[in-house]
Amino acid sequence: MSGRLQGKVALVTGGARGIGLSIAKALAAADARVAVVDILADTAQAAAAELSGTGNQGFSCNVADPEAVQGALSSIEENVGPVDILINNAGITRDNLLMRMKNEDFDEVIAVNLKGAFNFTRAAARGMMKRRDGVIINIASVVGLIGNPGQTNYAASKAGLIGMTKSVARELASRGVRCNAVAPGFISTPMTDALSEDQKIALKGRIPLGTLGTPDDVASAVMFLVGPDARYITGQVLSVDGGMAM
Ligand code: NAP
Repeated sequence: MSGRLQGKVALVTGGARGIGLSIAKALAAADARVAVVDILADTAQAAAAELSGTGNQGFSCNVADPEAVQGALSSIEENVGPVDILINNAGITRDNLLMRMKNEDFDEVIAVNLKGAFNFTRAAARGMMKRRDGVIINIASVVGLIGNPGQTNYAASKAGLIGMTKSVARELASRGVRCNAVAPGFISTPMTDALSEDQKIALKGRIPLGTLGTPDDVASAVMFLVGPDARYITGQVLSVDGGMAM
């Protein structure tokens, strides 16, 4: 892997922890310079300091705020370099049953998960199109493909992200820019670690491969899609879900 992305600049939103941090680590291990974007400056900077190689930096930005996104992108291009690889990973949940879901819980999830990806894609695509080179990966979810009770807002945001992926892929293909989505299933996180044994058994029962995935499983799929081996792949959704959606 080392050296595969030498000279490239990658931007990972929500890169301070979880799946985003695993992706940032994998990109840095392949010698990309990585801009870690997260809502808090100190966690973004701490994550960037954890990455291998040099030239990585952390930036604070709320992805849902278009002006903040434009400001962060300008600062990243000035301090790290023109963005070749954009990973739209920042995401939140505000789960509740349909009848109990508040307007603000619906709006906030769409604003971060869907509009946030739009904001960064629009900002970064300008330079990518000019340079006739670029890769965009949107981190969707199995829930955007098959739905989930209690996640009307989240599933809508992730299904929207898949539609956006395909539209961006069609619009930018002639300018040398590829855009794909990765759709993780149940990924082992502190949240899933806290589940009871019975809850874990029930969860695994829904996964054909019978086990939860890891953040590194998602990062591996991203690394394939951003690299030269995927040069002829755009507008696709790669599921990393142990076979949940098939
Ligand atoms: P996570 O651990 O909660 O990390 C998300 C990161 O994004 C956090 O550092 C968070 O900062 C940051 N963030 C939240 N809102 C933001 C905003 N408005 N602007 C900038 N940064 C923001 O999440 P994860 O589990 O790694 O998930 C990463 C992505 O994978 C998400 O898009 C999620 O929907 C998707 N996914 C996850 C799973 C799973 O099982 N974990 C499954 C399918 C899809 P704070 O913590 O400071 O708020």
